[in-house]
Amino acid sequence: MGMSFSLNLSSTPTQRVDPSILYDALVIGAGPAGLNAALYAKRKGLNVGILAERIGGQVLDTPMVENYLGLNQLSGESLMKKYEDHVREYEVPISDEIRVERVSLGEYKEVHGNDGHVYRAHTLILATGTMPRKLGVKGEKELYGRGVSYCAICDGSFYSGKTVIVVGGGNAAVGAAVDLARIAKTVKIVQRSGFRADKVLLDRLHDQLNVEILLQTGITEILGETVVEGVMATNRLTGVVHRLDADGIFVEIGHIPKTGCLNGLLEVDEQGEIMVGPQGETSVPGVFAAGDVTNGPFKQIIIAAADGAKAALKANEYMNRLKSESHGMAMIQ
Ligand SMILES: Cc1cc2nc3c(=O)[nH]c(=O)nc-3n(C[C@H](O)[C@H](O)[C@H](O)COP(=O)(O)OP(=O)(O)OC[C@H]3O[C@@H](n4cnc5c(N)ncnc54)[C@H](O)[C@@H]3O)c2cc1C
Repeated sequence: MGMSFSLNLSSTPTQRVDPSILYDALVIGAGPAGLNAALYAKRKGLNVGILAERIGGQVLDTPMVENYLGLNQLSGESLMKKYEDHVREYEVPISDEIRVERVSLGEYKEVHGNDGHVYRAHTLILATGTMPRKLGVKGEKELYGRGVSYCAICDGSFYSGKTVIVVGGGNAAVGAAVDLARIAKTVKIVQRSGFRADKVLLDRLHDQLNVEILLQTGITEILGETVVEGVMATNRLTGVVHRLDADGIFVEIGHIPKTGCLNGLLEVDEQGEIMVGPQGETSVPGVFAAGDVTNGPFKQIIIAAADGAKAALKANEYMNRLKSESHGMAMIQ
């Protein structure tokens, strides 16, 4: 039986991060990873604050979340409101509409906001997420959520018995095509050059009887009045332009991690994602990362939230060590 934590349910939603305070932990980002990190840090008794451009992160761009355990079907906006309310009940200060422009990692971690303030903490938890890489063609923006998707794990089940196009040639695209082949009637995988995916995935792709492969083919337009009806594609070797019919198009050409504020201070992988250990440890002690911005696989809400919890618990261990070391030093003096 657990002890209950005393909550102040009347906490003011306007409490913001104070630049004059040295925090135990500052979280950058208020998506699932950042909000859950702050919740866990606060419940461990850390003095924690959140700095973020937009509370809710990518989930706000998700019309309907259907794969979050226990919540069946909830709009992205409603889910993030629940997250935010939960964190605010613990009186965690949240400064939204602050873009972190730069961090510096000296004795204290300093976070430079675009509001001109420098915020300081003993530890940092980076949860700045990613942006899906876009095709940049006509119809993509207009038909987003109406057949255009950037997440096959999230939206694949809507296409049972239908025809879908997967765009891309890396592991994400080939993995998505293999998974979709079990759900959809036909999968067309379209890649503007050759495949870059691992052989084991490509073998699985070639085993599927309902997958058509179009290499050296670029998509130039997504077609449809109110929902996706197909794409226009050009064979880059022959120059032949043709129409491909489809009910949905999954753009799986990668993510752009939001690490601009780090100025190369942390180790990243070839995709620019922050390299982390199993509990969110980065290459710099006292700096942790969680969620989509890390090199962890499977960019999903529940995974980002779990990452946030792990990073906060690890930050708490770090703070415990720091406090016992400084206590030891005081005893010696
Ligand atoms: C269209 C779409 C649909 C999706 N559907 C689903 C779904 O149905 N189910 C599912 O499980 N997953 C879904 N996902 C994936 C899911 O949204 C992500 O895995 C999840 O949001 C990642 O959480 P995060 O906290 O790591 O990052 P994000 O949600 O991206 O949050 C990042 C946070 O960092 C802030 N930030 C970034 N840079 C800075 C900066 N320099 N300064 C200050 N703040 C900054 C942002 O404002 C934001 O608050 C979907 C993703 C997309 C794009």
